[in-house]
Amino acid sequence: MDEQLMLRLISEAYDNGARKISFHGMGEPCLCKKLSDYVGVAKNKGYTYIYLDTNGALAAPEVIFPVIDEGLDSLKFSIHAATSETYKKITNNDVFHQVRDNFIKVSEYINEKNINCKLIGYFAESIINCDEVEDFKSIFEPYASELWINPIHNASGTKLDNSDFSTNVNIASTKKLPCAELDRMIINWEGKAIACSTDWSGSLIYGDANISSLKELWNCEEILKTRKEHENIELLNNICKKCAEV
Ligand code: SF4
Repeated sequence: MDEQLMLRLISEAYDNGARKISFHGMGEPCLCKKLSDYVGVAKNKGYTYIYLDTNGALAAPEVIFPVIDEGLDSLKFSIHAATSETYKKITNNDVFHQVRDNFIKVSEYINEKNINCKLIGYFAESIINCDEVEDFKSIFEPYASELWINPIHNASGTKLDNSDFSTNVNIASTKKLPCAELDRMIINWEGKAIACSTDWSGSLIYGDANISSLKELWNCEEILKTRKEHENIELLNNICKKCAEV
């Protein structure tokens, strides 16, 4: 995201009452060279909870320790495997050991320095990895503040056609309405306001923070309509229909 836009959004969201902020969603935060600066700016502004999701591959000490030092409150590694083979099958990358080592180094760092930053290991269970849950626990539990092991979510319906994920209906969860995604504001890297962090197609974009204030976006007609649909459990023809429990 453009730096000026990022700084404006951190400030404007706080001034409108936001107290939690995250620098992720539809992207990998460790790719951002100014990540630690942004966490520091948010902390100084007064945010009480700053959190990040990463796939962990780039969360090496030189990248992530400065971010933690700036006041990060919670760091979640999305891992989803207990072996290199399964990790590669899911992510198409052969970096499971790198991710595991980064996780362990972060754990040791926050413990040694007595830093109050929660470290979470996340595992979305699917037909591909369901037999690795216990191994995942034994590898990561000794280092984690928490492990989150949940059925994979058929986010915005995008996995419906993927037999690897959909053949076992017992481990694909649906969203309850009104969907919690609508309780927060998501701005993507281009500055577009988007209703859902899993809307890869951009079909739920409802405005642009480059030309509108956050207050205008939060109250714009399109997002109000989407919220109303969720409250009334009457979804019209949008992607929510594919992943929600109706
Ligand atoms: S119900 Fe809609 S907003 Fe919620 S996760 Fe699904 S697509 Fe996204």
